[in-house]
Amino acid sequence: MSEKNDKKLLDKIISLCKRRGFVFPSSEIYEGFSAVYDLGPYGVELSNNIKNYWWREVVQLRDDIVGLDAAIFMNPKTWEASGHIKNLSDPLTECKKCHSRLRLDNLLEDFGVFADEKMSEDEINKLFAKNSQKIKCPNCGAKDFTKAKKFNLLVKSNLGNFTGDWEKDPSYLRGETCQGIYVNYKNILDSSRVKIPFGVAQIGKAFRNEITARQFIFRTREFEQMEMQYFIDPDSYKKHYEDLKKWRYDFYLNLGIKEENLRWHKHENLNFYCKEAYDIEYNYPFGFKELEGIHARGNYDLTQHSKYSGKDLSYTDPKSNKKFIPHVVESSAGVGRTLLAVLCDAYSEEKENDRIVLKLNNKIAPIKIAVFPLLKNKLELVKKAKEIFDKLKYNWRCEFDDHGNIGKRYRRQDEIGTPFCLTVDFDSLKDDTVTIRNRDSMKQERINIDKLNNFFIEKI
Ligand code: ATP
Repeated sequence: MSEKNDKKLLDKIISLCKRRGFVFPSSEIYEGFSAVYDLGPYGVELSNNIKNYWWREVVQLRDDIVGLDAAIFMNPKTWEASGHIKNLSDPLTECKKCHSRLRLDNLLEDFGVFADEKMSEDEINKLFAKNSQKIKCPNCGAKDFTKAKKFNLLVKSNLGNFTGDWEKDPSYLRGETCQGIYVNYKNILDSSRVKIPFGVAQIGKAFRNEITARQFIFRTREFEQMEMQYFIDPDSYKKHYEDLKKWRYDFYLNLGIKEENLRWHKHENLNFYCKEAYDIEYNYPFGFKELEGIHARGNYDLTQHSKYSGKDLSYTDPKSNKKFIPHVVESSAGVGRTLLAVLCDAYSEEKENDRIVLKLNNKIAPIKIAVFPLLKNKLELVKKAKEIFDKLKYNWRCEFDDHGNIGKRYRRQDEIGTPFCLTVDFDSLKDDTVTIRNRDSMKQERINIDKLNNFFIEKI
């Protein structure tokens, strides 16, 4: 499939997210807060289902990977050691006419000029000057910009600092979750049964002062990551790296994402410590962009933390007695970017059926079964539908709805991505059967109430 550039599609998805309660701008009644979003009732279900599925695949089904939930705040030395205080920065420029602040590498990219993320301030400004004729402000069209400056993305805080001058000695909201894994590597090794090779997985919030807030929940200032760091013997890196790449790619296929919308991107200019780096990209309405990074990071992280903390983070293999600082291959995915990818992938407009439908994979659909009494004002129908709902809800996330006509209720559930709608009608009172309507085929079938559990176990 060719790379998408479909602003209308993105607008439709944003509108559906708002209309149906998936995603809202943060603190919207106060005009929002740039690049921060809230998950509504269906958004939080979808996001939890994605995270639970990830956790099941990455932790529960693997006997060599354990979980962790490290704190958002860490000793600020962590960020010195990791290099984030010095290096987690993007080039910032400002349009002299409308004063929009823009990320220069993204701006250049929009005009077909590609900057390397490791370029110094001088280098990127030279590239900018060379192409200045074709670069226009996306907001006002002007061609006059300030010189770019590297802007650090770490978010500072005054937590634990009572001097009133906290900016000089700040603490930081973590810029990525994996540092919590590195600094706990030894604790985990000493307290559990793991032996190299083993992985540590974590899901949690991270914060970055992103310069440009664009593309809805693709790039936000507060976001959630699902990361897994796999600690290995340096000699076995290639095999572990290849296994990790294949496993992670399959994860997205199993989540129901169409393969034509996924591709690999190889990083060419690597950090000195990095052995190999690939991203899995998804074809969002604004083109192929990073969904997950899979990087072979050498032993940089543990070496740095060992140096800055003065603690020995080496490992001695119990069989061979070989001593080494473990290398790391990592998988780092964003919850918001996965959520956006599954929404884009599932979104379909069926003109012939006069409906918009989210064809989400059953395992992540926010609501699995919607239960309807045919008519709201017939007490026997409502009572029976409620009884069924009260049984099913112990096994699946269900929704009871008795508003409006059945056609409208179906349309609503189609837009939420509910795979099954169950209707209790007058026949149900006589023969204990109900109608099950399938979201994708729109076909209806009659099922005996006794058989509902088995039916849904098989289908969901
Ligand atoms: P980009 O190049 O798009 O800024 P990155 O290379 O800085 O991303 P990483 O540091 O590798 O991203 O973070 C790992 C993952 O975390 C990304 O693949 C993405 O899914 C997610 N992520 C990173 N930054 C953001 C953000 N600002 N908003 C939402 N998700 C993010």
